Amino acid sequence: MAACVALACATASGPGPDLGPETPRAEGPREETWADPLAELTRIVGRENVERGDELLALFQERGLAPQVQEFRTEATERRPSQVGRNLTATIGDGPRDIVVGAHYDVVRLPDGTVVGGAVDNGAASVVLTRVAETLRRHELEHRIRVVLFDLEESGLLGSRAYVETAEPDRIAAMINVDVVVGDTTLMYGPTSHEENDSVYRSLRVACAASEITCMGFPRYPPSDDRSFQAAGIPSVSLAMNDAAASHQMWLALNAGAESGLRESFVPEVFRIIHSSRDTIEHVSEPAMNHLHDLVVALVLELDRSL
Ligand SMILES: [Zn+2]
Repeated sequence: MAACVALACATASGPGPDLGPETPRAEGPREETWADPLAELTRIVGRENVERGDELLALFQERGLAPQVQEFRTEATERRPSQVGRNLTATIGDGPRDIVVGAHYDVVRLPDGTVVGGAVDNGAASVVLTRVAETLRRHELEHRIRVVLFDLEESGLLGSRAYVETAEPDRIAAMINVDVVVGDTTLMYGPTSHEENDSVYRSLRVACAASEITCMGFPRYPPSDDRSFQAAGIPSVSLAMNDAAASHQMWLALNAGAESGLRESFVPEVFRIIHSSRDTIEHVSEPAMNHLHDLVVALVLELDRSL
């Protein structure tokens, strides 16, 4: 896991592709409805990392954003050869401090050499964040918002480590990570056992109070790219969308130990879907993507106001 200490991280600077003048957009508190999120998700499901990255860059551009590409190379280890990855970043506003909103877009490879569909983990959240970036452009913001789609999370959080290593950690006020969309009623978040993240949890509770979906805090929570930021002392939180029953089961499995009441060897549904051939678009719904979009936007706006 020391691969990134000596990462040769090269940041491709510059404003990105020239997109020409922007068309004027309507201002107002109500967000426009999102025409067809599942059709957008279809563009990346089942494809290799590089193709997924290219489609997501195109999605950003179609939404009027000019994403930047951070290319980085990982050091070879005994277990894996050197890899080249690409983080994709859309920047909104120009405040003195950053709020980073991230999701990994890379997928794992199965033993037979094919890649998994990667709709649940983590294509849906990647597509949602391109939409979040578009929505946030319509708001007046105190912070600079960086929406980052990370590469090589599945190889050991390598994309987010590369990002943190080349950023100024003091400039980043908070980080919101989104990993897994598999149901539409419950937002899971954690790890709430980490006290240094309190400022982010407080804003999340405010956003949740105004939302129609339930939010469930997890003291112990699966690691994702949030941990790269947490390790640098940056307040962070990781989010996922799930169904109510599956969220409760996952909470019990991860946090209740021998008192969970779950049958022995019970495996929460999400762990039977991700990293397998079952990670398909059928597990993702339009309401789930819409709810996630609305909550992430609400959380960013609350953080922007309170930090
Ligand atoms: Zn993931």
